[in-house]
Amino acid sequence: MRSMRKGNKKPYIYLSSPHMSEEAYEQAYVKEAFDTNWIAPLGKNVNELEREIKEKLGTNDAVALMTGTSAIHLALKLIGVRRGDVVFCSSFTFAASANPIRYEGAAPVFIDSEESTWNMSPEALRRAFKKYAFLGKLPKAVIVVHLYGLCARMDEIMEICSQYGCPVIEDAAESLGSRYRGAMTGQEWKYTGTFGDYGIISFNGNKIITGSGGGMLLCNTADGEEKGEKARFLATQAREQERWYQHEEIGYNYRMSNIIAGIVRGQLHVLDKRIQKKQEIFQFYQERLKYLPGLSMMPQHGWQENNCWLTAALLADIFRKGNQKITSLEIMERLGKESIESRPVWKPLHLQPVFFAYDFVSESEELEGRHIVDDTMRSDQSICGQIFEKGICLPSDTKLRVEDLERICAVVSRCWE
Ligand SMILES: *Cc1c(COP(=O)(O)O)cnc(C)c1O
Repeated sequence: MRSMRKGNKKPYIYLSSPHMSEEAYEQAYVKEAFDTNWIAPLGKNVNELEREIKEKLGTNDAVALMTGTSAIHLALKLIGVRRGDVVFCSSFTFAASANPIRYEGAAPVFIDSEESTWNMSPEALRRAFKKYAFLGKLPKAVIVVHLYGLCARMDEIMEICSQYGCPVIEDAAESLGSRYRGAMTGQEWKYTGTFGDYGIISFNGNKIITGSGGGMLLCNTADGEEKGEKARFLATQAREQERWYQHEEIGYNYRMSNIIAGIVRGQLHVLDKRIQKKQEIFQFYQERLKYLPGLSMMPQHGWQENNCWLTAALLADIFRKGNQKITSLEIMERLGKESIESRPVWKPLHLQPVFFAYDFVSESEELEGRHIVDDTMRSDQSICGQIFEKGICLPSDTKLRVEDLERICAVVSRCWE
């Protein structure tokens, strides 16, 4: 993927790009599909991928689908979310976490982050349940996201949701391979995506491993296999078992192709290697940038083993000589001039124009007001709003060499001069 930009001799550095295995495992699985003409529908790669993911992560069923988004959609269908229902969802995430709530005509209520994990605040979640219990409109489901591969506080979140008997969907699209340990795991490490009633993962092009696309639904409840079968049924146009085409429900065309499954199977061989490299990239930045006043890396804890999908950092209000403020925008522009890709962190969903109509609950009422300056950017006093205002994602491509990382850190450091 390294390409030369016109008039610039240095190779372009990507945030995160597809990285096929050095051994070309992916091509071997795809070739097998060609040789047996199992291009579609389904086939051995799909079945084997489902078995491999199920065994690796430790869940009762894993259903291969076209995207992570379709996996969230089917999880909501299986839970029975319908028009007019309320669904709680992390605000600090990519729009795909919440869009399927709207596909079903339900209303998202966005939950703020906590500073210590950047993910859903248990405190805010508790407040949201109290508020909606008072309104007589308890949520049908909670979607909790493990952003950038950082584990959310699953002990607290699962306990609150179980108090209200509310099913949980874990959006582990960015956290494949991240592990959590806590009271509910008896301090044993357990993969994200396997705590909630359902979990979803994504094999989109920018994720830690990719099939060029693809996603999966993890069914974690005791009746997970039954739920998985129902998901497969809905994902293949809800065709009843008759000799003719018989349909009694509305279905979807959401199943993964055997070709994509082949690529993902190949990538699965190098998942652990990719995680290790991502963690090394995070550690490199941490080591090199820790001397820059006001810059702090995304939070890490002893009870998390994060896949470090993207390394993100925060910039406090910091001034260089001459009283000039250093902004994340300026750092991004300077990196861009050196052919280095960087990005803002996700803009919270409660600040997105498409979701302005929906409620937002934070740890306290004072943090909940939205102070939108314009439609495109800017923020409010919420915790995720502040992370958005101060955050920056640094290149975390697993093909980065030490000299590339040196080059990136040199450009960032120069902003402080
Ligand atoms: C990528 C992503 C998704 C969606 O996955 P697709 O496979 O692209 O549909 C959902 N949630 C989060 C947090 C993501 O980053």
